[in-house]
This record gives sequence, C-alpha cells and structure tokens, in this order.
Amino acid sequence: MNQQTGKVAIVTGASRGIGAAIARRLAADGHIVIVNYAGSAAAAEDLVRTIEAGSGRAITAQADVSDAGAVARLFDSAEAAFGGVDILVNNAGIMKLAPIAESDDALFDSQIAINLRGTFNTLREAGNRLRDGGRIINFSTSVVGLRLKNYGVYAATKAAAETLTAIMSKEMRGRSITVNAIAPGPTATALFLDGKSPELIDRMAKMNPLERLGTPEDIAAAVSFLVGPDGGWINGQVLRANGGMI
Ligand code: NAP
Repeated sequence: MNQQTGKVAIVTGASRGIGAAIARRLAADGHIVIVNYAGSAAAAEDLVRTIEAGSGRAITAQADVSDAGAVARLFDSAEAAFGGVDILVNNAGIMKLAPIAESDDALFDSQIAINLRGTFNTLREAGNRLRDGGRIINFSTSVVGLRLKNYGVYAATKAAAETLTAIMSKEMRGRSITVNAIAPGPTATALFLDGKSPELIDRMAKMNPLERLGTPEDIAAAVSFLVGPDGGWINGQVLRANGGMI
C-alpha cells in the first residue's frame, strides 16, 4: 500500500474482470476508489471489503452507465463522500459478437447504449465536474486495429470511444486534465472467455508474441501508469495493451 494521494477515482464496471483489478490497483496506489457496478452488488461490496482490509479506501456506487441521470448521481455520491472527483476510468462495457448481416437490433442497441452512450455520459459529467489536474481513461479494444470478423458493432463502439478520447483531450485545454484510451487485447475475463472453445481461446492467446492472454492486472498496471505521476505527459493517445498482437 502506497501513501494516500487524496485523489478520488471513479472506476465504472468495477465489480468484476478488468474493472475490479483496476479498482484494487488504484486503491493500492493510494487513491480513493468508487467501485461502480450495474447489477453485481455482492461482488462490488466484497471488493470494497478486500480493499479496506488492505488499508485502502473505497465505496460502492450502483449506476447503469447508459442512464445519464444515474451517471450524474454517481458523480454526486462521489462528491458527497469525498469532496470531488479526480480520475475517471471508463471501463464498463459489453461485447456481443455476430456478423453484421446477422446482427439484430438488440445487439446493436445494447452495445451503443453501454459502450458508446455510457462512455459519453461519464465523459460529459467528467468534463463538467473533474477537478483540474484530473485524468480520464476510456476503454477501447485492439480489435479496432485487428478488424476481426464478427466484431463489427462492438469494434465500432470502441472506435467511437477512441475518437471521443482524442477530441476531449483537446477540449480540456487549460485544465491539466489528460484523456487517454487503453485498447486491451484478449484478456482473461468472462467477457472474453464466455462462449469460446478451449481451442479458440488458445489460438487467440497465441496471436501475440508473448503467447498468453492478458490478465486483468496487466491492464490495471497500464491504467495505474496513465493516471499516476509518471503518465502525466501522455495525452490524447490510445495505448494498445496486448502483448504485441498488433
Ligand atoms: P467483464 O468481465 O464482462 O466485466 C464487465 C463489467 O462492466 C462488470 O463489472 C459489469 O458490472 C460492468 N457493466 C456492464 N454493463 C454495465 C452498465 N450498463 N453500467 C455499469 N457497469 C456495467 O468485462 P471485462 O473483460 O472486464 O471488460 C472491461 C472493459 O475492457 C470493457 O470495456 C471491454 O470492452 C474492454 N475490453 C476487454 C477485453 C477482454 O478481452 N476482456 C478486450 C478488449 C477490451 P455488473 O457485473 O454489475 O453488471
């Protein structure tokens, strides 16, 4: 556990997977963490207890990021508890795969709602409420570069997140707020593993020269760098954290 920084970090989708690893890492770095979740209340509360057991500071906050009012209340609760917000990690996301010709409206609408509108909702709130000197991390995917079949709608929502990143970094001029995106490659979480055969998982794990899947902790380390003191000169960039896959 590092010294407390006094910085307050909202991590969206922090109940499971990469978001939970980010919450643990940022708390270990000394930041106060708001563990946002949509439905997994018990997992989020367990995570807060684990962070507190390690002398970190965290609270849970339920909010569906696709709901603008809920996102405003998420920021309200962080400000009420800790006086302000310094770091936003826009990690919440879903992935539904199908060829474009076979993608139904629900597949399209749900990913637009959570991955794109959700990112927009939190960015808008952060643009108005983050304290000067803050940091914003959006989540893309290396599939934006790889352009794999079946990932059309998902990758399109993440390409949009990359564009929002670049433009918002310019709009934060004068406030010392950096805006970057992380684009993981295949990472061992439910989002990647569910519904894939062991053979496919093995094949995708070997697409990078390090020949393994990423871990949530690998991605959390990249977030830690970008929101920490050593990442301050990186702004408006997309960091592909994928073992060298692309
Ligand atoms: P995951 O294991 O499926 O976890 C997703 C998290 O997002 C959960 O905590 C979930 O909370 C939350 N969430 C889902 N819908 C939400 C909503 N409407 N509002 C708030 N939270 C919501 O996914 P992951 O693999 O950790 O992915 C995290 C991010 O990395 C995503 O943006 C994903 O696109 C990106 N990514 C992942 C990979 C990969 O291989 N895993 C690769 C590239 C990019 P509840 O449990 O409470 O619903």
